[in-house]
Amino acid sequence: MRFRLFKCAECGHRMRLSGHACGRCSSPKHLFQRPSIHVAVVSVVALAAGVLVLNAIATDITEIATDQSDAG
Ligand SMILES: [Zn+2]
Repeated sequence: MRFRLFKCAECGHRMRLSGHACGRCSSPKHLFQRPSIHVAVVSVVALAAGVLVLNAIATDITEIATDQSDAG
């Protein structure tokens, strides 16, 4: 399987994921077709997941502390 995922909007040439322009007519790719966008999306998702995990851990610590103070 080859990684020629996108069709050029200008000439219909099938483009690979890498690169920022059509290999045949050199017209620029759409923004969402550029690899940098995929990297940015993955980074944002990873960051969001990290924040969620940290929030969950912080909530657990708070609940444990609250339980101890209630018991005392
Ligand atoms: Zn093209």
